[in-house]
Amino acid sequence: MEKKMIRKALRCFIAAALISVTAACMTAVCCAEDSSSSADAAAATQNVTVNKVSRLSVSRSGKAATLNWGQSAGADGYLVFAFVGSKWQLKTETTDFSFTLSDIPWDTSLFGVKAFKEENGIRYLSDMRTVSRSAPALGKVSGLYAAETKERSIKLSWNKLSNCDGYAVYLKYTEGYKEIAKTTANTYNVTGLEPSWRRHFVVRAYRKTSNGGYLYGAYSDQLRTATCPDTVSGLRSSKKSGTSITLVWNKLACTNYIVYQMMSDGKWHRIAKPVTNSYTVTGLNYNTNYKFVIRACKLDDYKKEHLGWLSNILTVKTDRNTIVVKNGITYVNGILIANKTYPLPASYNPGKLTDETYKAFIQMRNAAANDGYNLWICSGFRSYETQRYLYNNYCARDGKAAADTYSARPGHSEHQTGLAFDINYASSWFDNTAEARWIANNCWKYGFIVRYPKNKQNITGYKYESWHVRYLGKELAKKVYDSGLCLEEYLGITSKYSY
Ligand SMILES: [Zn+2]
Repeated sequence: MEKKMIRKALRCFIAAALISVTAACMTAVCCAEDSSSSADAAAATQNVTVNKVSRLSVSRSGKAATLNWGQSAGADGYLVFAFVGSKWQLKTETTDFSFTLSDIPWDTSLFGVKAFKEENGIRYLSDMRTVSRSAPALGKVSGLYAAETKERSIKLSWNKLSNCDGYAVYLKYTEGYKEIAKTTANTYNVTGLEPSWRRHFVVRAYRKTSNGGYLYGAYSDQLRTATCPDTVSGLRSSKKSGTSITLVWNKLACTNYIVYQMMSDGKWHRIAKPVTNSYTVTGLNYNTNYKFVIRACKLDDYKKEHLGWLSNILTVKTDRNTIVVKNGITYVNGILIANKTYPLPASYNPGKLTDETYKAFIQMRNAAANDGYNLWICSGFRSYETQRYLYNNYCARDGKAAADTYSARPGHSEHQTGLAFDINYASSWFDNTAEARWIANNCWKYGFIVRYPKNKQNITGYKYESWHVRYLGKELAKKVYDSGLCLEEYLGITSKYSY
């Protein structure tokens, strides 16, 4: 019996010595329960009792646990344990009444402290006082969004979550969500995707357990995004005229295409979002270069655009106008023109406004009357001879240079065409009248245009004349009105004296 006691005490001493060594490196597993009961036995026999610590509390912060305990009377020190996996692990030996365990496994929630006392080189241990506290709950990942979408990849990003070891990323397939990656960062670039494809993702946080498993938090809200379409190729013009260009390009998988046109500000402007691989740009100028570029667009479930790369830049020149001179009269694309570049011969003399022009004026006059405005023609047809007389008088009065700004030289007056006339007052004070505004807004409906609009003096050769209208027919007048161009711009011609 005596021998057995000594052997037990010795074993306990060796174990205690081992504890001292291993406690220093904080890794080894100790047979704490065994040594404890041996010590108890030894203590009982030799009347050495070590009381349990008086109380024990623990607070958790992430993977750390701070233990606090009350002293055990007469104790020389304390051993701190954590229950890891399926056994107690000695974590430290201390003379203090508090210790913080760091980096303990997430699934470890049980902790213990034993007091010890040493007499004659033998260490006697108290029973273990235990306390339990789980790690903070693992939260739900929030703020999941697509930081960048490309043709074959989507970069996901989400809010960092404390109290986790990493994140698992899931991609939805027809059969459901599948984990595609684990990452410790709060971003993940999903690669190997197909272009122009709607994709749904969720992310959840995980913790590694002490036995190599995983504990998961709640799934994030679903992110529904899409990869970008491929780059549009083969942009070309399939058809064009003086005022329109038809663009075509190679079809590819996408929701729609976006057509950009280079504008006069030197920037690309979106002009259309066709769903087919063709688009006709209208209202263009004759004999003018235009630049276009296309990209494909995939809309995700939130109608957010995911854009492919820009196609090749296409430069197309609209067709030239056709200028035909017949019996000295100039027709540009079939339209009779009289301006500073293109004169009428002295012999051209319809004698009055053409019937069609006059009829159109009557319609316009009646419509204006319905709106409460009184329109009349104050100057209609003027022959070559009349214009020569007027112009020469203006030259004698104001000089040739001044006369040229407001009066046409003989042969260059639009009044000679029988297609143009002045309404109410041929004077700039008329510009600010309600009648002038009505004409500007409505004359196109009856086949007329305000021939010398504001801010076009350098092109038409005349300052703004709110009263002077030209008959073009309803169809063409609407096109010119809609284009916002003056007739010279619309037809791609000049208006400058060559003599
Ligand atoms: Zn006039």
